[in-house]
Formats: sequence, structure tokens, C-alpha cells
Amino acid sequence: MPGVGKGTISKRLESEFGIRHISTGEILRKASQENTEISRKIRGILNSGNLVPDDFMCELIKNEIRQDEKKFILDGFPRTFKQAQVLSEFVEIDATLYFTAKQELIIKRLEKRAKDLEEFREDDKKEIILNRFKLFEKNIELLLQYYRDRKLLREIAAGMDIETVFKHTKEALELD
Ligand code: ADP
Repeated sequence: MPGVGKGTISKRLESEFGIRHISTGEILRKASQENTEISRKIRGILNSGNLVPDDFMCELIKNEIRQDEKKFILDGFPRTFKQAQVLSEFVEIDATLYFTAKQELIIKRLEKRAKDLEEFREDDKKEIILNRFKLFEKNIELLLQYYRDRKLLREIAAGMDIETVFKHTKEALELD
């Protein structure tokens, strides 16, 4: 889910276990800051809360994965069924984590983040958040089915405090 805390937990996995954190959101936000045509296009998509086209996204993630041999966690990918299919042709994944929380709680967290100047993101505005949720809901069922069928799906209740969520994540990944 948008804003469920995937980024926070991924960063902890990176710092405590040396697992490379690949965040599509961070990569895109960085790419959107240049002064090129493609940058402007990405910026427009991010600011509207829409999804970047699958083909572009898949190439981007393949390039990113190729840069290092280390184990990695993909934060924000795949977000569509098509992305999941392309990923499966490219790498063998160990597990898929699905972080869940009540939508009202997430909206509160995102609204709080929107007030924080340092973390300010155009897409944390109320109407944009609602669009991100709408797209999430449109795509999630097929993705869950896909990973459930392959016995890779692990669900994590992410409405609790960070320590508890991190503990459950480690258990799900059999790390300690
Ligand atoms: P959140 O998970 O809170 O929505 P992210 O930082 O992961 O935030 O993503 C921000 C935006 O980046 C998304 O709203 C979308 O526009 C774009 N994006 C990120 N990952 C993908 C993806 N896998 N496919 C398409 N667009 C993506």
C-alpha cells in the first residue's frame, strides 16, 4: 500500500543486514529532478499519483538489479501483474512481503508526512493520495494471487510500531 512503511523497513534491512535497498519511488523521484524531457514526463506522472508505464519501469529495474550481485529488496516493485511477470523472467525471488494496514491509518500517516517540509512530496496531497490508493486497489488482487499461487507471499501487519513490524519482517524472511 502507498505509505505503509515499506521504505522505512527496507532501510533497516539494508543497514542491519546489508541487503541492498532498491526503491523505485526514490529512483524515480531522483530521475524526475533533471531538466530533460523524460524527467518532466516522470515528474508529471509522480505528481499525479499515476503509475509509470510498465515497459519503462521494467527496464529501469533490470538495469538497477544488474549493477550489483548482492541480495536485494525491491521496494515498490512489482506494482502490476505485468511487472511481476517480467521480473520472474529476469530473477528468482525468495519471498514477497505484503504490508497491510487500515486505509484510515495510512491516510493519517501520509497527511502527517505531507506537513513535514523535509519530507514534502507533491503526491502526499489528499486528492493524489486517493488516486494512489485507487491504483493500488486496481492492481493488488492479481499480484497477491500470483505470489500466493507460487507460495511466496508473506503478509505483515504494518499498522503497529516500527520495532514490531521490523521484528515480524525478520521472522518472515528468516533473518535474525
Ligand atoms: P508509495 O509507496 O508511498 O506510493 P513510492 O515512493 O513507492 O511511494 O512511489 C511513488 C510513485 O512512484 C508512485 O505513485 C508511482 O507514480 C511511481 N512508482 C513507484 N514504483 C512504481 C512501479 N513499480 N511502477 C510504476 N510506477 C511506480
